[in-house]
Amino acid sequence: MSTPCQISGCKNDAPAAISEHRLCLLHFTLSLEASCAAMRRETALGNAPHERQREIMAFITANGESLARVATSGLVLTDDLKARILSTFLTLMNLRENLDRANMRSSFGRVSHPR
Ligand SMILES: [Zn+2]
Repeated sequence: MSTPCQISGCKNDAPAAISEHRLCLLHFTLSLEASCAAMRRETALGNAPHERQREIMAFITANGESLARVATSGLVLTDDLKARILSTFLTLMNLRENLDRANMRSSFGRVSHPR
């Protein structure tokens, strides 16, 4: 009935709310952090195609929802894991913000913005 975490050597089960990822909560947050870091590099210059940017935004929304669902599903979580969940939310939000900012830079080109 339970889904084991797919990371080799990990003995935890994947929580029901994210069972489709086949990752325990710790490894789910780690994999999100890694994906976000890669997407951040990919989009930092603001020249990722629009199609790809939409994919990344969809990724952020879908995974943010999964994370919120599992975090509020009544699992018993250690304080460490709670802190990790919050920092992963922050990573998702920052990625979204960076994406918007990079987008803005690329669409306005070199026009200067008075402050
Ligand atoms: Zn695991």
